[in-house]
Amino acid sequence: MEAVSLQVVERTAAELLRLAVTVLPRDVREALERAYETETSDIGRAQLEAILEDVRLAEETSRPICQDTGTIIFYVRLGSDFPLRRGLYDALVRATRRATQEVPLRPNAVDPLEERNTGDNTGRYIPYVHWELFDGDYLELTAFPKGGGSENTCRLGMLSPALGLGGLKKFVLDSIIEAGGKPCPPVIVGVAVGGGSDIAMELAKKALLRPLDVPNPNPELSKLEEELLRAINDTGIGPMGLGGRWTALRVHIDYACRHPASYPVAVATQCWAARRASARIYADGSVEYLTHEVG
Ligand code: SF4
Repeated sequence: MEAVSLQVVERTAAELLRLAVTVLPRDVREALERAYETETSDIGRAQLEAILEDVRLAEETSRPICQDTGTIIFYVRLGSDFPLRRGLYDALVRATRRATQEVPLRPNAVDPLEERNTGDNTGRYIPYVHWELFDGDYLELTAFPKGGGSENTCRLGMLSPALGLGGLKKFVLDSIIEAGGKPCPPVIVGVAVGGGSDIAMELAKKALLRPLDVPNPNPELSKLEEELLRAINDTGIGPMGLGGRWTALRVHIDYACRHPASYPVAVATQCWAARRASARIYADGSVEYLTHEVG
């Protein structure tokens, strides 16, 4: 076993990007299969059938599930006793360039001032990395390529605190109705209330990382998730916006304490191509994949 090095980090991060864009996590695939089995609209069912066929072919041929391989985002949990610090970000940049070439990924990083595609999915702040420190001895990496269509329908509302939970429910539902078929439903909806504008959106996005078969540990939020899911699916927007029972697979909610004068509500929409892949890297250089089986 080699000792951990930046090369191990780079290689693992590139592999996570490949896995994320070519193999849907088991929980998402199973939720899509359940949706297909229970979809009541013929057109909706046909859409789900095509999606599942696409997922199968992508996995078999190791090709991207969708032509839009997303903006490259990593969530990194860095253990206080993990031996590497210096050069970690650069290793993730190199991994992004490598995956762009090797998978390949579609170059999706456009400099908004020069209106120029950088060509390799890297550039100012991209790949974007969310860093979290924790007491531990490993590094946990999650690759989270986020598609543009479902990103465009994310919404932030700075509501009046007087509106309370009723206001939150209305804002979530209005956001989903306005989104219609644009985020490629059935979607996963991340919702967060409280904190501030940045905190709410950060938590709503992070809620998308929770596996679909893991319930919310807070019973009140779990109930609210079910209520919102029913309301969203009652809209009839359906798979790919063509009508049907399944507009969303799940709603995931998180919250933070808020300023007395503020009531931020963030809605993060994630398309059916809910790509994420995670692994832990240990000090001895061993790698444990958490979301995918790697032979
Ligand atoms: S929203 Fe998702 S499924 Fe739709 S085109 Fe973008 S990445 Fe693909």
